[in-house]
Amino acid sequence: MPAAELLADLRALLGERGVVTGERLTGRVYEQHVGPVRAQVLVRPADTSQVSAVLGLCHARGQPVVPHGGLTGLVYGGAASEDELILSLEALTRIESVDVAGRTMRVEAGVTLQRVQEEAERFNLMFPLDLGARGTATIGGNISTNAGGMRVVRFGMMRSLVLGLEVVLADGTVLCSLNRMLKNNAGYDLKQLFIGTEGTLGIVTRADLRLASRPTSSAAAFVACRDFAAIPELLGMLDARLGGQLSAFEALWPEFYELTTTAPALSSPLLPYGHGMYVLVEALGADPGPDQERFERVLADALEREVIVDAVIAKSEAERRIMWAPREDVFQMDRYGPSHSFDVSLAIADMPRYLDTVRRTLQERVPGARQFVFGHVADGNLHISVCAGDAQRHAATFDEVERCVYEPLRSITGSISAEHGIGLERKAYLEISRTRAEIATMRALKAALDPRSILNPGKVIDVH
Ligand SMILES: Cc1cc2nc3c(=O)[nH]c(=O)nc-3n(C[C@H](O)[C@H](O)[C@H](O)COP(=O)(O)OP(=O)(O)OC[C@H]3O[C@@H](n4cnc5c(N)ncnc54)[C@H](O)[C@@H]3O)c2cc1C
Repeated sequence: MPAAELLADLRALLGERGVVTGERLTGRVYEQHVGPVRAQVLVRPADTSQVSAVLGLCHARGQPVVPHGGLTGLVYGGAASEDELILSLEALTRIESVDVAGRTMRVEAGVTLQRVQEEAERFNLMFPLDLGARGTATIGGNISTNAGGMRVVRFGMMRSLVLGLEVVLADGTVLCSLNRMLKNNAGYDLKQLFIGTEGTLGIVTRADLRLASRPTSSAAAFVACRDFAAIPELLGMLDARLGGQLSAFEALWPEFYELTTTAPALSSPLLPYGHGMYVLVEALGADPGPDQERFERVLADALEREVIVDAVIAKSEAERRIMWAPREDVFQMDRYGPSHSFDVSLAIADMPRYLDTVRRTLQERVPGARQFVFGHVADGNLHISVCAGDAQRHAATFDEVERCVYEPLRSITGSISAEHGIGLERKAYLEISRTRAEIATMRALKAALDPRSILNPGKVIDVH
């Protein structure tokens, strides 16, 4: 529990409403994936100057601070012990401006991704980042995790959609790197230090986001392939022949597809079971008739060449949504008990051999474990979920399952985290994907920017 003196200072600064303790805090329900939240105090500053003042007070007293956005992060980045103080960005929810000509939007960090998407649409523009947690995840959280999601193949990760940032450093210094220009090589690009660093180097308070034209055509299809060998060819065909419109390429392995299309899941099968792979493909463009024709022509060619063996094409927005549902229903494995969820990255060419190795070692070391795989694939990202059994077996096999999934990445220089980050959950395995020199440089940056180690301590790296 932070010292009484600090609490009094925080109350004087933020008022009673800005400091949440007791039942008002314990009454908040946290999802399991957030990790343990035992903090006794949560503060919710109303603007950047209050964030700065809070950090100034905490820095002076060496008080550890855990930033909270929408708490949809999946690696225990928001876990907070009794001695830590939660700094929630929930009151920073202003969309400040949209520059239509320059295609940018300036927002505060606590705005949800969905609100940003909807605001862009009002101006006939699009904010391209998209992920299942869009209604709750915040822009600050998206930045701090460098979120990826469904459209990375075309628009890149969050990093490529952030033009400028305002950040509060550990000692309360406001670092204004807001910037609406696409080109700005004036010295170091400091904003990069805070994208994907999970609140360990600074608190993101405002951001300039890059927008794109709002597509006026969207074509979607759910296709089946005989086996994984067809996937790179299908991807190559779509990429080359859709004129840059390919916006999503989501692969579903059969066990995952069956899981999310059988009760109690709400979706029904879109294509028969029994195929080796299923892929959800989406193209976004600006010319509905010709775009749809081109999309269907490419799929017809793929069918003729047996790159795909079956397909269903969405004929309406409602059908498009139905197609996405099995892919987005990612918590269906919970019916088999708690699951270990992984988010790895590797070359597409390495995927079949890697997955075989994981399957084989899991069978040997954790007999009976169920494995479900889906992923964005075109960007090298696979999501793997492993259900080992009930809560007791889940806990007992945790380390073994992690080793089965992570160790084979070492020899193929894959990444233990494609998009969710490291948080607490993956810290022990960081050395598989980062060299000693890289980790030492991370520590040096942490020491330079947060010498008292008060920002999200223990997340991503240990300082000593
Ligand atoms: C159903 C579902 C689907 C998902 N799909 C995807 C997906 O496709 N792709 C993907 O990348 N992720 C996905 N995620 C994970 C999650 O949505 C993202 O990591 C998201 O970016 C987190 O945003 P948040 O606001 O919830 O952050 P939080 O969970 O609150 O925080 C995440 C981390 O960032 C830190 N943080 C939060 N806000 C700030 C701030 N303003 N300044 C500094 N640090 C901060 C926190 O301390 C924590 O370490 C999914 C999650 C769910 C539940």
